[in-house]
Amino acid sequence: MQRDILVIGGGPAGSAAAITAARAGLSVTLFEKSAYGRDKVCGDGLTPRAIAALNELRIDHSVAHRIDGLRMIAGKKERELAWPTTARFPNHGAVWPRQKFDNHLLDVAIASGVDVRFESEALPVLEGEKVIGVKVGSDLFTAPFTVLAAGAQGMAAKMLGAERDPNETFGLAIRAYAPTPRHAERHLEACLSLRDEHGTAVPGYGWMFPAGDGTVNIGVGALSTMKGFKKLNLNTLLDQYAGLVRDSWSLGEYIEKPRAWRLPMSCVKRYGQGWVAVGDAAGFVNPMNGEGIDYGLESGMLAAQKFIEDPASAAVNYDREVGERFDSFLRTGRRFSFLIGHPWILKPGLRIAVGTQTAADITLSVMGNLVDSSTPGAAGRVLKIADKTLQLADPLLRKTRASAN
Ligand SMILES: Cc1cc2nc3c(=O)[nH]c(=O)nc-3n(C[C@H](O)[C@H](O)[C@H](O)COP(=O)(O)OP(=O)(O)OC[C@H]3O[C@@H](n4cnc5c(N)ncnc54)[C@H](O)[C@@H]3O)c2cc1C
Repeated sequence: MQRDILVIGGGPAGSAAAITAARAGLSVTLFEKSAYGRDKVCGDGLTPRAIAALNELRIDHSVAHRIDGLRMIAGKKERELAWPTTARFPNHGAVWPRQKFDNHLLDVAIASGVDVRFESEALPVLEGEKVIGVKVGSDLFTAPFTVLAAGAQGMAAKMLGAERDPNETFGLAIRAYAPTPRHAERHLEACLSLRDEHGTAVPGYGWMFPAGDGTVNIGVGALSTMKGFKKLNLNTLLDQYAGLVRDSWSLGEYIEKPRAWRLPMSCVKRYGQGWVAVGDAAGFVNPMNGEGIDYGLESGMLAAQKFIEDPASAAVNYDREVGERFDSFLRTGRRFSFLIGHPWILKPGLRIAVGTQTAADITLSVMGNLVDSSTPGAAGRVLKIADKTLQLADPLLRKTRASAN
C-alpha cells in the first residue's frame, strides 16, 4: 500500500505528526503496536508548553484537570509558585492520565482521516540508506516519508541507527496511582531532595500530580549520573517517597502495581533519507525534569509541517529547525545532570534553587519546559550563561562523574 506519510508509534508525538499531515490532505497510516486503549507509564503532567502545543493542534483539553502552578520542596524549604504568564505559553498546565489523553489524540487522528492500525508493530524497510516504508508482519507499506515516533528507543530505532548515545545521561522513573482527598488541587508538587535507602542524594525528584478524578499520580525519577544508579531500586525509592507524603496527602494504597519506564535524553541520529525521529525516539526529554510530552507534540507537528512544505528537503529541514529549538537547551540539561550527579553539589544547589524568589522563578521556568534556545528574560539568560560555564566544566564533570555502580 502506498501512502504519503507513515508514522511508527501512537503516542503524543506520532499522533501530532499524523493529525497535522492528515488535516493538510495527505494520506497517513499510523501504526501502534499496542491495542486501542493502551496506557503509557508517565506522570501525566502537561506543562504550559504542552497546553500551547495542544492549542496549536486544536485539541480540546477542557476535560483535563487544570493545574495553575508548582509547589517545590527541598528539605524544609517549600515554595508554591504560579505558572508565569508569558507571550508564548499560557499560565496553566494540566494533568491528563495518559490512557485517556493518548486515546483522545488517536480518536482525533482517526476523525482527521488517519488510517490508524492497532496491534501492528511496524519496522522500517530500507533500500540502501533510504527508508522506503515499513513492514508489519509480511505486509509492506511504502511512502516517501516515515516518522519514527516509537518512544524510548527499541528495534525500529536500532534498525535506523537512531539510538541513545551511550555516553549521555538517561533517566528511569516509576509511577503509581493512589486515592487522596487532595486530588482536585491545582498545584503539582515536586520534592527535589530525594534520598535513596542508603541516604544518597538522588538527582531527580518525587512528584505528586493530582489528577482531579479522586487520585494522584505519585512517582519518582532518577538520572543515570547518580552515584550507585545501577543498584537503585525504584520500587523502594517510590515506597520511601510515599512514606514521606502519606500523611500530608492522606494517601491511600496504590491502585495498581507501580510501573517504571525509561527516559531517553539523547539520540545519535534523528534523521536520514526518507525518515525523521520525533519525541522520545529523538531523545527529546528535558534532563532537568524528565518531561517530554510537549517536545513530542511540537516535534511531531514540525516533522509533518516540513514534509507539507517541501517533501524533498523535509528531513534535513526538520533536523535543522528542531535542533535550533531544542539542542542547546537539552545539551545544557545533560551537562547539568553530570553536575548534580555529584551529591556534594546537589545538596547546596537545591538550597539555592528553591532558596530565593528569583532562583525559584528560574527553577519554575525550567521545570515547566518554558525555556529553550530562544527564551528571553532571566531564565533564558541564566541558561545561556550556564551553558557556557558548563561547557568549560563538561570534560571534568564527565571524568569525575559519580560512579553508577
Ligand atoms: C515514569 C515517567 C513519568 C513521566 N512523566 C512525565 C510528565 O509528567 N510529563 C511529561 O511531559 N513527560 C513525562 N514523561 C515523559 C513522557 O512520558 C514522554 O516524553 C512521552 O510519552 C513521549 O511521547 P512519544 O509519543 O514520543 O512516545 P510514547 O508516548 O512512548 O509513544 C510511543 C508509542 O510507540 C509505540 N511503538 C513502539 N515501537 C513501535 C513499533 N515498532 N511499531 C508500532 N508502535 C510502536 C509504543 O507502543 C507507544 O505507544 C514521563 C516518563 C516516565 C517514564
